[in-house]
Amino acid sequence: MDQRCCRFCHRQFEPSRFHPEQPACSDPPCQQQRRTQSRNLKLAVDTEYRQICRDSARKWRANNPGYWKRYRDAKPDSAQRNRTRQRQRDLRQRVAALANNNSALDLKSSVGSSLVVGSCRRRSCQQQLGCGASLCLAKPYPKTAPPRGILQTTSLW
Ligand SMILES: [Zn+2]
Repeated sequence: MDQRCCRFCHRQFEPSRFHPEQPACSDPPCQQQRRTQSRNLKLAVDTEYRQICRDSARKWRANNPGYWKRYRDAKPDSAQRNRTRQRQRDLRQRVAALANNNSALDLKSSVGSSLVVGSCRRRSCQQQLGCGASLCLAKPYPKTAPPRGILQTTSLW
């Protein structure tokens, strides 16, 4: 049988004879990645599936009241990490909406620059996002870690 290259780990594997177009090897991490990728794609393109998943989660929460409160109480580190990441997601959404709706910020002339969101207090960072963060255009950072206080850097197209 023909050998194939796994999409995720890039190792050679022999596809199942029942599923010759198998894209990933049968290692559990690769199968998990394949399922996650497939589910995210379906969520992105299928509104009915997305609604079913939302309803299912809503029904589960209704049947298990207080689960998430107990979870947060039992795992404060995890809860804090989730809060931080949610703030970053919210900020990213706000910046995307701002970039799409704000004609004051000429993004077309900023190609090659970076959009920096964080606690920058420079004079050039005039535009506040309403959450203590600022938005400014800056030169790209070196490949090392961004300066402290910067939450998100987005390259402009
Ligand atoms: Zn693999």
